[in-house]
Amino acid sequence: MKAVRLEATGKLGLRDVERPEPGVGELLVRVEACGICGTDRHLFHGEFPSKPPVTLGHEFTGIVEKVGNGVSGFREGMRITGDPNITCGRCPECQRGRVNLCHNLQAIGIHRDGGFAEYVCIPQQQAFQLPDELPPLHGAFCEPLACCIHGVDLAEIRTGSSVVVLGGGVIGLLVVQLVRLAGATSVVLVTRSAEKRQLAEELGATASADPSTGDVVAQLTAADGLLPGGADVVIECAGVAETIEQAPSLPRRGGTVVILGVMPQGVKAAIEPFDLLFREIRLISSFINPFTHRRAADLIASGTIKVEPLISRRIGLAEAVEAISNPARKGEIRALVVPGIG
Ligand code: NAP
Ligand code: ZN
Repeated sequence: MKAVRLEATGKLGLRDVERPEPGVGELLVRVEACGICGTDRHLFHGEFPSKPPVTLGHEFTGIVEKVGNGVSGFREGMRITGDPNITCGRCPECQRGRVNLCHNLQAIGIHRDGGFAEYVCIPQQQAFQLPDELPPLHGAFCEPLACCIHGVDLAEIRTGSSVVVLGGGVIGLLVVQLVRLAGATSVVLVTRSAEKRQLAEELGATASADPSTGDVVAQLTAADGLLPGGADVVIECAGVAETIEQAPSLPRRGGTVVILGVMPQGVKAAIEPFDLLFREIRLISSFINPFTHRRAADLIASGTIKVEPLISRRIGLAEAVEAISNPARKGEIRALVVPGIG
């Protein structure tokens, strides 16, 4: 079968590899779609540790082709979404229930072969069933959505809350929808692209702002701004120093900042501890998807969270090599790899 293999930093190629056989408790899945995320590009550049040679792809969905011995609850022909993060269950954090902080975390598509391939083999506990009638590509959004659900859980949105979302990529556009569902009634998305601002407003943002037109903090929090005095909650979804530095100035006194965006390791951003303390800002970070994958699958299966508008292009495995080796195209939200096309 064909697979997109990372062989070393900067060395990615389409290779012919043996189709895997499901071991005990494993499922062989025929991949219908797998999203390309910024992490895949970081893995290519060696900015995120991985274990080459390995097939990349951690946002996959597909159809169960074959079940290994000892599998229960799954059968051939079922559609599933995969949670890539395999936790050990034995380390101190797993035993505290903080599984996303597992000391021995192994991810499908990072440490073991993933979904940029015709087939992927996964332990059954990483699989979550999706309805047969779901559009086949939608399941590829369960993994990013599961990460966003964790962030929104940590934000503790209340009915009637006001929320600022910084960054209008796939994460920001999913968070906009989730915070509305959680009861936020004023939601402002801040992003540079006019198309993304318009899409955010179609998906539930009540207003949007362009950070390139001036001081974001003033635009939002001034007496005549979009959220005078600041928001109850600010969710950082851009992963750049500028938004990390803005975020603590955007909540009201006693408000909350949740950081979802990933900055490159070692890069620092300036915050003002006096201001955090004096205004008692709650500053929280949110890492991956502890126990949220089932909820993500249900929200996508029911159509409650809209993902179709987030699909910018569909590409085959051969094109995926070029797409992962280069930055995302201008205006692109999500490129999905669909084995068998192109
Ligand atoms: P993305 O497509 O790169 O989206 C980020 C967006 O932020 C960009 O599209 C850009 O849109 C916008 N942006 C850039 N600079 C900005 C600025 N100064 N002010 C406002 N917006 C700005 O990435 P993504 O896939 O949505 O992911 C977002 C972040 O979440 C990434 O850092 C990713 O690594 C991280 N992430 C974290 C987790 C987790 O578990 N915590 C899980 C998945 C992803 P414009 O061009 O419109 O400005
Ligand atoms: Zn563990």
